Amino acid sequence: MPPGTVTGKTQVVGVWGHPVGHSRSPQMHNAALAALALDWVYVPFDVDPARIASAVEGVRALNLVGVNITVPLKELVGPHLDSLSDTARQVGAVNTIVNRSGVLHGDSTDGPGFLRALAAAGQSSAGRRVMLLGAGGSARAVAFALAAAGNEVVVSTRTENKAQSLVDAVNADFSGAAWVSGWGADVAGIDLIVNATPLGMTPYVEEMPAVASSVLTARPFVYDLIYNPSETRLLREARAAGCETANGARMLVEQGVLSLALWTERAPETLPADLMLNVIEAILA
Ligand code: NAP
Repeated sequence: MPPGTVTGKTQVVGVWGHPVGHSRSPQMHNAALAALALDWVYVPFDVDPARIASAVEGVRALNLVGVNITVPLKELVGPHLDSLSDTARQVGAVNTIVNRSGVLHGDSTDGPGFLRALAAAGQSSAGRRVMLLGAGGSARAVAFALAAAGNEVVVSTRTENKAQSLVDAVNADFSGAAWVSGWGADVAGIDLIVNATPLGMTPYVEEMPAVASSVLTARPFVYDLIYNPSETRLLREARAAGCETANGARMLVEQGVLSLALWTERAPETLPADLMLNVIEAILA
């Protein structure tokens, strides 16, 4: 079937956000669905947070295969679902709903997607001392994934009580895995830095999170969740200091691959991740 053809049998997946017009997921997923020759279509839905319960009921009523959930709905859908993965429960957010014959399951693929992106960059995702910059939604997903994989997570934010809340939540499940450091503090032995703040994102490309130069001289691998611009000021300065770096495009792809794996019940390795990355990079270029 030619890509983009909708038939009487076409099944629907999609993404909910508010707003949702900026999302690159429709292009990324529709390219993957076409490559897999699935008679499915991936559609954006702008869902008013006040109507989230009706929207969830709509997944059953319209027999959607599943949906991705993005800002600001990720923390709102969980209570309306029939079951949650351990990951979704830990991070307190859902980015994927799977409709299993009317039983709605919630999962969170952001953290596992981040670990897969790290692996794609040739980086080990265990036994590291990680400086995690930020304590918002994506930092929470990354912190739990890193702790579960056996890393030490040093959370650094401008608002220390938020860092402490995240550390307390992680340590409740992974005792002693996380601790708080000051914003811009000199911490010895950091071998991975992860930026989970919006600092440096278009149009604020001259901003960057506070990282002590002494931390960079130890040449940690630096992963920035931001993918627009493709090289943030943090990544540029880290590269100048001799660090290897990667941007967040691969994480965006890998969280999508894991959602697609849940919906199609296929192994992630059989899904077209490189094609999805090409689509994202072409959109951003
Ligand atoms: P969020 O929930 O709003 O959290 C943002 C974090 O950054 C908070 O800890 C916030 O601290 C901190 N922050 C914001 N402005 C700051 C500033 N001027 N100085 C210092 N700290 C500041 O956001 P999020 O959803 O986690 O997203 C964070 C970034 O990750 C965004 O750039 C987003 O695009 C990116 N992201 C990428 C992917 C991917 O797949 N690659 C996935 C998710 C998110 P306060 O609490 O003190 O404000």
